[in-house]
Amino acid sequence: MIDKINELKNYFQKSSYVVFFGGAGVSTESGIPDFRSTGGLFNARYKYPPEVILSYSFFKAQTSEFYRFYRDRMVYLDAKPNTAHTALAQMEKQGKLKAVITQNIDGLHHAAGSKNVIELHGCMLRNFCMSCNKFYSLEFILQTEDIPLCSCGGIIKPDVVLYEEGLDETAIMKAVNHIADADMLIIGGTSLSVYPAAGMVNYYMGDKLVIINKSKTHVDRRADVTIHGSIGEVLTAVLAEGDVAYE
Ligand code: ZN
Repeated sequence: MIDKINELKNYFQKSSYVVFFGGAGVSTESGIPDFRSTGGLFNARYKYPPEVILSYSFFKAQTSEFYRFYRDRMVYLDAKPNTAHTALAQMEKQGKLKAVITQNIDGLHHAAGSKNVIELHGCMLRNFCMSCNKFYSLEFILQTEDIPLCSCGGIIKPDVVLYEEGLDETAIMKAVNHIADADMLIIGGTSLSVYPAAGMVNYYMGDKLVIINKSKTHVDRRADVTIHGSIGEVLTAVLAEGDVAYE
């Protein structure tokens, strides 16, 4: 493990265009569970699995039930950026990290101070009226009951990509361009099983592909360094001066 982290530090020092691609595992250290891996928890109180409730057709057909689940299970208002978020913000400040590409919708990278964040699945801090496009905060969603309605009477929808919905093409293009330009690509906290993460990695042309994840991923064998550990601890160690005494 120490050897791997020192190799990562070496990579980082030699790189000038680092890109981070992250998934749910980045936010679990802030206490936000990965709903895909906690499916069992939902069964008692919801008739449908989260993948069904968080789909566009369910949102349209059973908006009230969608919001019951959403307020209850998706919103973690007290969640704070963890050491992974702050290390990435620091790397950007140093000028090396050019972009954070995330599948998370919690806005914690911005909260940590990162500027160039590409939110592939949107962000729950933004909500818009489906009729007039007026903006509403997450607090507004939480203060309302049942279906949150705009002053115009329209239904408010979180600016997040639901199942069945396509990703924003501008965001995809930006992400792909950063990955193609990167001399170091760090993938963290994602099993890369969810579209479009797996395909995007194919745009990386460099020789410093790093994977940091608690469990194995199907691209581990393609990686130049794979670390199965805490993203926050690993990234913090990469930023630390001198050699690492990390276990
Ligand atoms: Zn409206």
